[in-house]
Amino acid sequence: MTSVIQTMLDKEYLERSDIIELLRCSEDEALLLYRKAAGVRDRYLGNMVYLRGLIEYSNVCGKNCLYCGIRRDNRRVEHYTLTREEVIEAAMTAYRLNFGSIAIQAGENTSESFISNIEEIIVSIRKMTEGRLGITLSLGEQKRETYKRWFDAGAHRYLLRIEASSPDLYRKAHPDDGMHNYYNRLECLQILKETGYQTGTGVMIGLPCQSLTHLADDILFMRDFDIDMCGMGPFIEHSDTPLGRNGSENLFLKERFSLTLRMIAIARIVMKDINIVASTAMQAVDKFGREKAIACGANVIMPNLTPEIYRSGYRIYEGKPAFKEIEEVNVSGLNMDLIPGTTIGLGIWGDAPHFNKRMAKS
Ligand code: SAH
Repeated sequence: MTSVIQTMLDKEYLERSDIIELLRCSEDEALLLYRKAAGVRDRYLGNMVYLRGLIEYSNVCGKNCLYCGIRRDNRRVEHYTLTREEVIEAAMTAYRLNFGSIAIQAGENTSESFISNIEEIIVSIRKMTEGRLGITLSLGEQKRETYKRWFDAGAHRYLLRIEASSPDLYRKAHPDDGMHNYYNRLECLQILKETGYQTGTGVMIGLPCQSLTHLADDILFMRDFDIDMCGMGPFIEHSDTPLGRNGSENLFLKERFSLTLRMIAIARIVMKDINIVASTAMQAVDKFGREKAIACGANVIMPNLTPEIYRSGYRIYEGKPAFKEIEEVNVSGLNMDLIPGTTIGLGIWGDAPHFNKRMAKS
């Protein structure tokens, strides 16, 4: 007898109610979901995992998000910003190891010196790699002119998680101080698209007060926004933050982890040809979290290339892996035995086919 879940998975389109059912199905049934998602990935993108070397440029942040360990009011953060030379060295490591791309991430900073430093770094990296190393940015909410300057300098992808696509839930996870405005974030995403970036967004899974309906709506939000890339991860408490005050007992982390696998699989089935990240937060919860995410339809990983002395400074959540994970013999750091049939895409940007289709339409 075909299960209700299998019947759902055989449908051409998933409705909101289907997504909610898939999010709450049993572990056994979820295996059908995972298998289907991996099949969709193989069919639309192939079985290759792309690498983005992550460079955590600075932990200085003007924002005060209630969940994040590098929020402005966390006085226990020792602040750092990489020098231009350090960023370029990390980028050249990525290039030498044949990573297709890097991703530069930081706390939010809108000062002119920050903006021009990033601009110069992008120009230098493009020059030194003859335009061969792809550059993704994840530098928060900025002005249209800033996004344009960085795009013109040579960055071509941008990740800005909406964090929660429900304005109500967004409000609960951010201070109500005029600096954390859902609609502003949404507008930034729109501007990124208009500027020409391959645009990515995503949410945290397991935020307080978040329901399965919220999560189903997050998937529909990303579908309707027509995103090119998606990054999602479990919310992990940080004890120096308002949402982590009760410590990091992490009672529900396992549930959040398995819910994230389901969200990744559903995202893959709904948005077949986008890039989906197997996030570091997955690895923080489960040693093989990234491999499991790949087996559920993800196709991108972001190995950390931040110089080791700064690693512990970029602690956005507790238990974030700070060890050296890049080895010359296995640059992805993945245990390939766990994802048979998968290969690592070396030396290629690995753009989402979705972006090219979106461009061809416009
Ligand atoms: N300033 C940038 C980068 C923020 S850090 C920006 O605004 O986009 C990157 C991501 O880490 C965030 O988008 C958020 O989704 C995630 N993050 C922050 N705190 C977290 C926590 N406690 N648990 C899990 N993920 C967290």
